[in-house]
Amino acid sequence: MTTAPGHVRPVGAGHSFMPLVPTDDTIVSLSRMSGVVSHDAELQQAVIRGGTRLGDIGAPLAERGQALINMPDIDEQSLAGALGTATHGTGASLGCMSSFVEGVQLVTASGDVLECDRQNNPDLFQAARVNLGALGVVTEVRLQNLELYSLKRETTWMPIEEILETAESVADQNRNFEFYYIPFSGMGFQDIHNLTSEPPSSTELMDQNDGAETLMQLRDWLSWSPKVRELVLGSYLKTVAKEVTVAPSWQTYTKERNVRFNEMEYHLPRENALQAFREIKAVVEKSFPEVFFPFEVRFIKSDDIWLSPFYGRETCSIAVHRFFNEDFQPMFKAVEPIMKKYHGRPHWGKLNTMTESEFAGHYPRWNDFKAIRQELDPAGKFLNPYLKNIFNLAAG
Ligand SMILES: Cc1cc2nc3c(=O)[nH]c(=O)nc-3n(C[C@H](O)[C@H](O)[C@H](O)COP(=O)(O)OP(=O)(O)OC[C@H]3O[C@@H](n4cnc5c(N)ncnc54)[C@H](O)[C@@H]3O)c2cc1C
Repeated sequence: MTTAPGHVRPVGAGHSFMPLVPTDDTIVSLSRMSGVVSHDAELQQAVIRGGTRLGDIGAPLAERGQALINMPDIDEQSLAGALGTATHGTGASLGCMSSFVEGVQLVTASGDVLECDRQNNPDLFQAARVNLGALGVVTEVRLQNLELYSLKRETTWMPIEEILETAESVADQNRNFEFYYIPFSGMGFQDIHNLTSEPPSSTELMDQNDGAETLMQLRDWLSWSPKVRELVLGSYLKTVAKEVTVAPSWQTYTKERNVRFNEMEYHLPRENALQAFREIKAVVEKSFPEVFFPFEVRFIKSDDIWLSPFYGRETCSIAVHRFFNEDFQPMFKAVEPIMKKYHGRPHWGKLNTMTESEFAGHYPRWNDFKAIRQELDPAGKFLNPYLKNIFNLAAG
C-alpha cells in the first residue's frame, strides 16, 4: 500500500454505477483473495475474504451448515464491494448486508492491518461497515449467518393497484417481499419468500432476460398507441402463471441478469414510499413513453451504521432503470426530485446527483465518518475525484 504511487482505489466486481472506483493511478482487486477463512458453529458466524463473490459464498457456507441472512438480486458482487455501498436485498425485518457484519479487517493507507468490531475499535467498526472504499482495503469480514435454511419463493402477477393496496401488510407478513411494476401495463408482480421445510421443487420459470427483450419489442411495435400498448401488455401479463420454487436460501434470492441497464435507486422513509411510487409512475407514463424497464420496490429494516442509507429509519426503496444504450438522463432528472422531495437517500452505488451538503443533511454521523477517514488517511491516498467531491476535500 505504501509503495503504490498516487491514489489507490479498491475494486470489487465493478458493478457500481457511480464513479466510486475510477482513478488514473492504482486499482487494487482482491479477486484472488476469496473464500471462507474460518467459522464458528456455535455463533453461526464465518470469516470470509473481502474479494469473495457473493455467488461463491453459498456453497462453502452450506458445507459448514450456515447461510447468509439475506441477499441482493444478483450474486456477482464481491463481499467487500457489496458492503462498501450498503448493498441490500428485501425484507421489512431484515437489514442490508452490512448490518450482518460482526467484524472487519482492513489494510490502511499506512500499511497497518486493523481489526474492528463492536468492542474493539467500535467507531471504526461503525464507519467500516459501509465505507465506499474510502478507509482502506477490506481484506476479511466476519458475518453473522443463520443455520442453513430453505425458502419458498412465490411470484404472482397482479394489477399494480392491488399490489399497492396490500403492499404494507404483505411486507409485514412475509419474510421477503418486493414488487415490480411494468410501465404502461397497469400490471406488476410480487415476489415473496418464506421459510419452508418442503423438499426442493420448481414450476417452470420465466427468463427475466427474455422478458426484458419482449417488453422492448412490444414498446417498438405498439409505440403508435400507448392505450393499445397497455391493453396488449396488461391482457398478456394477466395470463402469466404463478411461479413457485423451493430451494436452499442461497439459490433462491438471486437471478442471472444479462440485460444491461442504468439504474437510479433511492431509499425512502417507508411511510413515504408508496406515495412517491405513484408520483414517479405518473411522471414516467406521462412523459417517457419509450421506457419499458420495470420499477423495483423493496423493503429494508433500519440500522445504526454511520453511512448506511437505512440509518435510523425503516425503509422502502424504489429503483428505476433505462436500457443501457438509451439516454437515462432526462427520465432520471424527472424522477430524482420526487425521490428527494420524499427524503430519499440514494443507493451509494447507483446513479444520483447528491452533493456533499445534501449527504451531510441526510447522515447524522457524516462528520464522524469524515473524521475517521481523515485520521486513517490524512494524505487522501484512497480518494478519487468523486469521493473528494462528496467529502468536500480539495482536488489534487
Ligand atoms: C445488475 C446489478 C444488480 C444489482 N443488484 C443490487 C441489489 O439487488 N441490491 C443492491 O443493494 N445493489 C445492487 N446492485 C448494486 C451493487 O450491489 C453495488 O454497486 C455493489 O457495491 C457492487 O459490488 P462490487 O463488488 O461490484 O463493488 P464495486 O462496484 O467494484 O465497488 C463498490 C465500492 O466498494 C469498494 N470496494 C470494493 N472492494 C473493496 C475492498 N476490498 N475494500 C474496500 N473497499 C472495496 C469500492 O472502492 C467502491 O467504493 C446491483 C448492480 C448491478 C449492476
